[in-house]
Amino acid sequence: MFEYVEKIENADLKNYCTFKIGARGTILFPKNLADLKKVIKDCENSHLPYFILGNGSNLLFPDHDLKSVLISLKKFDKIKILRSTSTGAKVYVEAGTNLFSLHNFCALNSLTGLEWSYGVPASFGGLIYMNGGAYGSEIANFVLRVKVLSGGKVRWLRRKDINFQHRKSNIDGIILGAEIKLANGEKNEILNLQKEYFENRKHSQPLDKPSAGSVFKRGKLLPAKIIDEFSLKGSKIGGAEISQKHAGFIVNIGSAKSADVRALISFIKQKTGINFEEEIIILE
Ligand SMILES: Cc1cc2nc3c(=O)[nH]c(=O)nc-3n(C[C@H](O)[C@H](O)[C@H](O)COP(=O)(O)OP(=O)(O)OC[C@H]3O[C@@H](n4cnc5c(N)ncnc54)[C@H](O)[C@@H]3O)c2cc1C
Repeated sequence: MFEYVEKIENADLKNYCTFKIGARGTILFPKNLADLKKVIKDCENSHLPYFILGNGSNLLFPDHDLKSVLISLKKFDKIKILRSTSTGAKVYVEAGTNLFSLHNFCALNSLTGLEWSYGVPASFGGLIYMNGGAYGSEIANFVLRVKVLSGGKVRWLRRKDINFQHRKSNIDGIILGAEIKLANGEKNEILNLQKEYFENRKHSQPLDKPSAGSVFKRGKLLPAKIIDEFSLKGSKIGGAEISQKHAGFIVNIGSAKSADVRALISFIKQKTGINFEEEIIILE
């Protein structure tokens, strides 16, 4: 099956997520829209579940082999300036674009706005789907419209028709790319800002250890603050630890299992008595 598309069967999923946790699975890499449509159709015809893989920076894979086929849009990685004006530009970014590449593109073209996201290890599609944000900004503020594949058809969703909420969106379908608006800036200022945001991250987040970022969503309650107040930093189950540096992160301190992370999540909820909502996506 899927002979027409690049694929890795029996892939070690640890290498496809920032948590470095998981067993084995099949990953497909369609190279264009026709391939992608065919892959989806074949999955549907054979009742094979599929899951869109971005950069795997918000995912917890299971300890058993994945039943769903993973579809990576890594080959959808073009960025194009559609229109430049005296104040800024409209840019189309394909979903598989790595966020670091987008930042390089922005600096090269003196386009400012996204510096707050420098260091988020996401694909652009994943950032849109999750409505990624940091330091008081979120990607929804830059989106003009999103191109999706849904029900076998390509459609454009206008910004006003998308419900972006904290770390989620209601986008139904596979995000192929999005048009965003950026402002004109000055290259060195952009590079300096990117560096500054990255330094802030390095200072506050355990970037030296595998994780999937913040485990829980922030709402009225600030999970990291509460977990810290309950003195849970450093608590361990198996190879998973509540980061000593940032209580909102669970880190993999060596050969952590999905079960260890899940148990630590339950431990946090039980100790604090709060049923925090997970931000990370836990695959079964
Ligand atoms: C060290 C670290 C720091 C982080 N800091 C932040 C932060 O500051 N702010 C923040 O918001 N997040 C942060 N995160 C979490 C994570 O980077 C974001 O949630 C990111 O947006 C996920 O993007 P991804 O491409 O890795 O998606 P994945 O983790 O691969 O997937 C996440 C979800 O998006 C869906 N998806 C991905 N691509 C598509 C597509 N093309 N079409 C439809 N659905 C798609 C997947 O199916 C899945 O449901 C951090 C993570 C780490 C490890």
